[in-house]
Amino acid sequence: MIKFKAAAAAIAALALAAVPFAGAKAQDFPNRPVTMVVPFAAGGPTDTVARLIAESMSRSLGQQVVVENVGGAGGTRGAGQVAKATPDGYTVLLHHIGQATSATLYRKLPYNVLTDFEEVGLVTDVPMTMIGKSTLEPKTAAELIAYVKDKKDGVIYGNAGVGSASHLCGMLFMSAIGTQMTTVPYQGTGPAMNDLVGGQIDLMCDQTTNTTGQIKAGKVKAYGVTTKERVKSLADIPTLQESGLPGFEVAVWHGMYAPKGTSPEVIKKLNAALVQALQDPKVISRFADLGTEPVALERATPEVHTKFLEAEVAKWKPVIEQAGVFAD
Ligand code: ASP
Repeated sequence: MIKFKAAAAAIAALALAAVPFAGAKAQDFPNRPVTMVVPFAAGGPTDTVARLIAESMSRSLGQQVVVENVGGAGGTRGAGQVAKATPDGYTVLLHHIGQATSATLYRKLPYNVLTDFEEVGLVTDVPMTMIGKSTLEPKTAAELIAYVKDKKDGVIYGNAGVGSASHLCGMLFMSAIGTQMTTVPYQGTGPAMNDLVGGQIDLMCDQTTNTTGQIKAGKVKAYGVTTKERVKSLADIPTLQESGLPGFEVAVWHGMYAPKGTSPEVIKKLNAALVQALQDPKVISRFADLGTEPVALERATPEVHTKFLEAEVAKWKPVIEQAGVFAD
């Protein structure tokens, strides 16, 4: 009994000691650089969004936010790294819709999308574009659909691996037209874009944040945008819905995460810096050039982000199960 009392007192003393320690740490945050993991290769659309946000957050946090590209396995390698990182706010993840789709696409994900992260806030919604190499024969989306149906796996489709947005868009496209293409996975659509421009692959579906410049420079052919409405900065490109694929709709959202257990005070500071970045004129104008805009500020809260993520996991589950595409 005495032994038990002594042990209980020791535990209580330890717990008390831990509270002010954690509080003091949160107060100091950040006193060294923060790593922002991008789960795709450098030079791609997630990387572009992350670097703009990281630069702006560095100014408001008074510490460098350094982007680290951890590509592979459709974004799940980088996300897994952050899920297992020390929950002190010094490692965050800038991911996209793949955070939700990978929960169903992967049978054995080594982390839980819904329970291993603290959501920091949503960042932006980005339309996608179906694009082809400049020498690809079809000139319109209708011609492209006929061409893919005819050539089938003779058409090479580049993506960023199972779980990526380009994978999701390609999967929806193939299921809409009832044909399979040959897919080639990359660590991100930055390197895939190089191969598309170089003509090594035929087709890709990717965010406007990666494709706008190449489309405008005539380096790739644009067949359609994946949103319901046309995209302002690419107004002459029809939607895929207009072009014979009714109901075809997919947009990529980005969100920021910290590992589960990161203190509420630190999440608050990260969120405040994110919200400031979303109002930064430089970020807004660069986003506009790339066919996107920051989310409305009421959507940039951890609470809204958590609910949205849960809804997105539930939304894509039946779609993926129906398509029957899974990875181990
Ligand atoms: N756009 C890529 C995707 O397909 C990822 C990237 O490289 O940013 O998900």
